[in-house]
Amino acid sequence: MSHVSTKDLIRFFAKVEVSKTSFYNGSPCWEWAACLNRGGYGQFKYKRETSLAAHRRIYQWFVGTIPDGLELDHLCRVRHCVNPAHLEAVTHRENGLRGQSPVALAAQQTHCANGHPFTPENTYIFRKASGEIRQRACKICTRAYRAKSAARRRAYSKEYWAANRERFLLANLTDEQRAHRRNIKAKSKAKGRKAA
Ligand SMILES: [Zn+2]
Ligand SMILES: [Zn+2]
Repeated sequence: MSHVSTKDLIRFFAKVEVSKTSFYNGSPCWEWAACLNRGGYGQFKYKRETSLAAHRRIYQWFVGTIPDGLELDHLCRVRHCVNPAHLEAVTHRENGLRGQSPVALAAQQTHCANGHPFTPENTYIFRKASGEIRQRACKICTRAYRAKSAARRRAYSKEYWAANRERFLLANLTDEQRAHRRNIKAKSKAKGRKAA
């Protein structure tokens, strides 16, 4: 932990607004109400430091040095937040995985769209060739979906069979059977003529 002067702390906190709407783990975000960089991170000039990132600055003051090769992840997902309790030093890969891309967002979800938990027992995991997770699927929902579409298929084939039974039967008749059917038809026609 580095020694920070009262004067610098006051200067820092003059740019902070405690959020009334954004929380992580029960504590509010400390929103940077001054200059942000293009990435949306708070900017704070401190001594001769080259890094202006306000969240990195406060982390170094209150938590400690950021280990080489690690970056700070905003657990609250609010980039301009400087609450050190919302920051965690992680690898670049972890940070990317926790970010806001659709894949990362999906990876953060703890429950499926129907509220079933993504526990190991209830999750199908589909991977890319590289081994990276491509998609997760809820087993309960997948099973329900499969059962539903199987039932639909069965119902459809039943209907289809009923509607086309005659045609199928005809198509599969042997020559003998065909001859027999022709015979019956001829006989019934002859009968019809006699009756007329
Ligand atoms: Zn926050
Ligand atoms: Zn589900």
